[in-house]
Formats: sequence, C-alpha cells, structure tokens
Amino acid sequence: MYSFEEIANADPQIASAISMEIQRQKDNIELIASENLVSRAVMAAMGSPLTNKYAEGYPGKRYYGGCEYVDIAENLAIQRAKEVFGCEYVNVQPHSGVQANMATFFAVLKPGEPIVGMSLANGGHLSHGSPVNLTGKYYKVSSYGLGEDGRIDYDEVEQLVCRVRPKLIIAGASAYPREIDFKRFRQIADMTGAYLMADIAHIAGLVAAGQHMSPIPYAHVTTTTTHKTLRGPRGGMIMSSNEFDQKINFDKAIFPGIQGGPLMHVIAAKAICLKEALSADFKKYQEQIVKNAKALAKALIEKGFNVVSGGTDNHLVLVDLRNKGITGKDAEHILERANITCNKNAVPNDDQKASVTSGIRLGTPTITSRGMTEEDMYIIADCINMMIDDIDANENKVRRIVSDLVEKYPINY
Ligand SMILES: *Cc1c(COP(=O)(O)O)cnc(C)c1O
Repeated sequence: MYSFEEIANADPQIASAISMEIQRQKDNIELIASENLVSRAVMAAMGSPLTNKYAEGYPGKRYYGGCEYVDIAENLAIQRAKEVFGCEYVNVQPHSGVQANMATFFAVLKPGEPIVGMSLANGGHLSHGSPVNLTGKYYKVSSYGLGEDGRIDYDEVEQLVCRVRPKLIIAGASAYPREIDFKRFRQIADMTGAYLMADIAHIAGLVAAGQHMSPIPYAHVTTTTTHKTLRGPRGGMIMSSNEFDQKINFDKAIFPGIQGGPLMHVIAAKAICLKEALSADFKKYQEQIVKNAKALAKALIEKGFNVVSGGTDNHLVLVDLRNKGITGKDAEHILERANITCNKNAVPNDDQKASVTSGIRLGTPTITSRGMTEEDMYIIADCINMMIDDIDANENKVRRIVSDLVEKYPINY
C-alpha cells in the first residue's frame, strides 16, 4: 500500500535509518532469542490506516463511533487466539508483554501482596518482580532460582511457596532452555491456594504448535507476547478460563485499568499472525525451531562449549563461557564483528555483574524463519567457535562464511 519512496520523500533521515536497519537484518545471523521476522501481511497490517482509529472499549461496546470495521478485526483476533491456544477467554489489546503482565497483577493483586517468580539472574523477566521494576516495588517478591543442573528445582519452588504463601505464582522465563512443567506449578499453587500465572512470552509459538506443554489447562491466567516465537506484531495477550475471568475481569484491568485506546492496526496484525499460526506450515516451522536449537546446542558442546543444562527443549541455548575465559559482554561484541548478533546473558551462579555476565543466549526463531536447517547450525557453531577462539586469525574467514549464509537465505522485505 505504501512504499519506502514515500518515506524517503517525506523524511530522508528516517528513511535512511529504516533502510540501514533492513540491511542490517539482511546481513546478520540474528540469534537474539526474543526476535523474529514477521510476514509481509503482518507488516502491511501494521502500516495500515487502522492506526487512525480510536476504539477505547471492546467490540460492540466502544466509547467512540465508527468502530464497526475495527470490531471485525478485533473479533477475528479473539476468535483465532481461542482456537490457536484452546482458551475460553482472551484479551488481545495489551500493547506488549509487560502490559499484559501489569494488567494481570493489577487485576489479581493489591499493592503489597506477596508474589513468587523466577529471579531475573536465573532467566526470569524484569516484570516478574525485579527490584528495579514496578512489580518489585509494589509487591512483596520472593524469587526462585535454578538447581545445580540448570533446571527449575520444583521442590525448592514448593518449599518457597509453602513458606511465603504468595497470592500469585509466576511460571515463565526469558532465558530458560528447558520445558516448564506447568502441571507441577499448578499442583504447587493448589497447596496454598495461590493463583498461577504462566508467562509464555518466549514459547508462545511452540505452545501454539504443540512443541511445548500448554499452560492453558493448568494456569489461572496466561500472558504472552505476540512477537517472539509466535511471529506476529509487537504486542501482548491475556488468556484464561471464562470462570476465572468472571471473577477477575481482565478486560477492565486493561481498559480503563492501565491502557487507553487499543492499537487497532496491531490487533489486525495479531489476527493475521494467529491465522498463520493455524497453518500446517507454522507447525513445521516451530518443529524446525526446536530441531535447530538442539543441533546448535549439540554442535557447540562438540566444540567444547559448556551449554547450560546440557542442551535445550525449546528455541534457545544458554552458553556458559567461563571455561573459555571470556565474558558474555566481550563475546557479544566479538560475534557482532562477524555479523552474528546475540545477547550477553547471566548463567546460573554467575559471578559477573548483569552488565557483563558470563554467558550468551542464542535463539533460533529468526534464522529458522529465514529457512535455515540443522546443517546450517553446525556452520554457525563453527563460526562462533572460531571467533571466540582466535578472532585475529579467523575474523575475515568467518565474515565470508556469514555473508555466504545470509545470501543463501534472503529476507523478503
Ligand atoms: C519478552 C518478555 C516479556 C515482555 O515483553 P515486552 O513485549 O517486551 O513488554 C514478558 N515476559 C517474558 C517472560 C518475556 O520474555
């Protein structure tokens, strides 16, 4: 509908920033586990005139006139989300994953009430009660970490919950390579009558395609982003049973609770991504994400890397670099020089501060969207190894390999 030429004519500085970013995405092996590449249809919906529309409220109950067509889009998004995840209630209006979490806390908790979540240092998310986040200041937070094996120690979670008797338990993570046992979390929640919130921001695509246990039968409420493995526009969703929603009223918590007008162009894009998520291709895509992550972990282990928990069940691999004598921060910078993009990440029992860390987090959603398969993971592991082992000797060689690889799997933007 609209082209880059129009941006270039109106605002050459922004056009140049956008075109350099597109080139960067094309040239890079993108291993940031929370990123992805959306379809052209999702992209087009986000750039559509639906952005002009104010639609505070919900379909059929808006505070503005002229909402009949955006209602169609929101109803389709709702209907498809229910189908994709098998949930009874969904709110597709959260502007982001954090907004979905904030609304859930606002709906379920009073200020000062106790919550339990995974600590940020062990793979949890800022919005799960980190001291620097609003959740850490408004609620009484107790955090669980990981066991020696790099996995959630459910017995430890159970002891913590029995001790602090939280109103809400959060199960979900941003840097956890293993399957989360939502069933076990619900058993723990039921011991003290706590509510269970599952945050599937990272793994939503895997859950949608049956590649990860679904929290829907177990959690009182499930929050997610739509832009990570789910491969949709930047945004969030809240899901629950009708019964729990009737008790809590999530719609009211989103609007007027914490948001104003919904982003109708983004909600239309969410509907498109959810339609895509119902396809057979999407299921294959999610399977390939996991196959690729497993291959990447295996290849790195063969090169002597210490992969946290010894492998992965999902879309990401956490590498502990302490045996390689390099920090996460330095590794991130070194890899960037060869157009391999990833992020530094704390590993269990990390002795470096959060701005340095001892590890890197590598994810396969974006490179899988480009079409890469297991054999490419061995090439990427080789490149990572060469850069970290001896950057001076290998940089030029690795840059050539990366350039060949990204050329083989072009991005269609
Ligand atoms: C990414 C993430 C979020 C936040 O999503 P934003 O859209 O960045 O606000 C919330 N929870 C978890 C577990 C995440 O990984």
